[in-house]
Amino acid sequence: MIQDLFADQQRRAGLSGKKASDSATDCRECGDPIPDDRRAAYPGTDLCVECKRLLERKERIRNVRY
Ligand SMILES: [Zn+2]
Repeated sequence: MIQDLFADQQRRAGLSGKKASDSATDCRECGDPIPDDRRAAYPGTDLCVECKRLLERKERIRNVRY
């Protein structure tokens, strides 16, 4: 069944039970609208591309060990 295959792929991707409509329409950091294709690609996201990138950079810096 193609539906089963799709569900299995979603489960492995950790997206089980999430869909584009679960994503926020506006970024929680800057309030900019999040594009539909981004919401579809990252179900559950609540950050725009720019804020997500900034967050990832901050986390990388925080994880550096001297
Ligand atoms: Zn943002």
